[in-house]
Amino acid sequence: MKHHEVIVIGAGVAGIYQIKRLADLGVDATVLEAGGDLGGTWQWNRYPGARFDSESYTYGYSFSRELLDEWHWKERFSGQPENLRYLSHVADKFGLRRHMQFNCRVEAAHYDDAQNLWRLRTVDGRTGEGRALTCRFLILTLGLLSIPTLPRLEGMASFKGQSFHTFDWPHEPVEMAGKRVAVIGTGATGIQVIGEIADKVGELTVFQRRPNWSAPLNNGPISDAEMADIRRRYDEIFATCARTPGGFEHEPDRRGFHEATREERLALWDRLYDEPGFGIWLANFREIFTDEAANAEFSEYIADRIRRRVKDPKVAEKLIPRDHGFGVQRVPLETRYFEAYNRSNVQLVDISETPIVCVTETGLRTTERDHEFDIIVYATGFDAITGAFDRIDIQGVGGEKLVTKWRTTISTFLGMMIHGFPNMLMPAGPQSGSASTNYPRGIETGVNWCTDLLEYMSARGYTRAEATAGAEKRWTDHVTTLYAMMLMRKAKSWFTGYNSNVAGHEQGTVRYLVYNGGAPKYVNTINAVAAKGYEGVVLSADRGLAPTGSQPTAVA
Ligand code: NAP
Repeated sequence: MKHHEVIVIGAGVAGIYQIKRLADLGVDATVLEAGGDLGGTWQWNRYPGARFDSESYTYGYSFSRELLDEWHWKERFSGQPENLRYLSHVADKFGLRRHMQFNCRVEAAHYDDAQNLWRLRTVDGRTGEGRALTCRFLILTLGLLSIPTLPRLEGMASFKGQSFHTFDWPHEPVEMAGKRVAVIGTGATGIQVIGEIADKVGELTVFQRRPNWSAPLNNGPISDAEMADIRRRYDEIFATCARTPGGFEHEPDRRGFHEATREERLALWDRLYDEPGFGIWLANFREIFTDEAANAEFSEYIADRIRRRVKDPKVAEKLIPRDHGFGVQRVPLETRYFEAYNRSNVQLVDISETPIVCVTETGLRTTERDHEFDIIVYATGFDAITGAFDRIDIQGVGGEKLVTKWRTTISTFLGMMIHGFPNMLMPAGPQSGSASTNYPRGIETGVNWCTDLLEYMSARGYTRAEATAGAEKRWTDHVTTLYAMMLMRKAKSWFTGYNSNVAGHEQGTVRYLVYNGGAPKYVNTINAVAAKGYEGVVLSADRGLAPTGSQPTAVA
């Protein structure tokens, strides 16, 4: 039996930082990663156009001054290859790879109540008979968007050309010049791909079911002088991120929407539309998120921008969402996206009018006609937030299955612990502060909280931590209440648990998956819990193995 004090599942942005913290403390820990290398999102999503829409310098880790000083972000919104290089650099710099095992997909994690440990089984059989992998603490950094979902269409396997989900974009270059390419899906991913490949392929046909509101990314290079300035300002930048709801530099406009004049609103929106990043969403009036009238007026402003950028008025109208307002779904930021539709080699097929019937050997059949393609790109999204948890057979006390517990309602304590699943921590779990904020800022908070809990326990000789049912209920009620204030509760998006390709999630019945109170409130809440000796968590030392040797010695 191979035993570790801590097993971390997932070597993405969160898992990398988590193992860094554990390694620094000298805890015996290992990371199990399903992929062939580290990087998570930035390892998998190699599609053309994949890049941050957080400012690069707010996305990097903040924990090491040396790292901040030596890394030069070359673009304001850095692309996938550079982002993966960065994460690799971090792992190499801090010697983290030796704590990671790749091509190691975990299929089961069962809590053993008598022994107070977790028993893991992996797909590759490295945990075969008599070789169980066990740990006292299980930390799940599985990624919020790590399970891609494909449409459920007949004939998908029969297509003779190349086809792939954007998440599984091949590592080797895909030859697209002169090719007839289909892209299905117009979420943040589809919008990035389309803008990037429109002028590089022979013909591009976009299959759009529902359009998304989108605004310019306004990317650009970062010069040496700008980078030097950013380095000088890092403390200030991270302090700003810490006090804004989204964990970005973008601060909401302090004026009330209804107090500002129409001219003042237009002046703000004109400025934000031309500025880089999420300002158009997050530095806007707060009422955009909560007030139907404010949201409708702003949505009409963006609709006009689309009309100005797309030459064919009929196409422009098809690109304007009708079923939700701006910002109530996660806003994609785009580069040359709307202009792509002005090109003669780009065609928009509205599959809300003429749905796809099936995939054929040569392409796609809609209710209107057959389309022939060399390549089909599925930019059809993810079984978001809970998908990666559902794919592992996680069983807690008494064999309770997590997938069953979460079937009707998601419930957690602070998005990081679950009643009935002792010693299982989720630094960026469902209902935590990470999904709705600048992700690395959120995960640093979550990882630090979880690691502090382990240190606290170790220092006091505790070996078991479990959130109480009451604390979990209070948190879940709080998360649910926050949804009630947000217009986003009405939208069919992954923020509300909608996915047309996953059985049970296609109706758009709201699932309370993200915390909408903003980063500062989240941080204050979880810090207050810690300050009160982890109120809401039962800590005990009464069961199981004695603490193992390589972690800080427990003083009972
Ligand atoms: P998504 O937002 O869920 O969009 C999926 C798209 O595929 C939607 O347009 C959806 O249409 C369409 N679709 C799904 N199933 C379909 C089917 N069976 N037939 C036809 N169309 C179908 O997924 P995503 O674009 O991958 O983005 C997910 C999240 O990843 C983003 O919100 C963002 O948080 C993150 N992301 C970030 C970046 C970045 O810049 N850093 C880039 C890409 C993604 P319906 O809307 O009608 O369902």
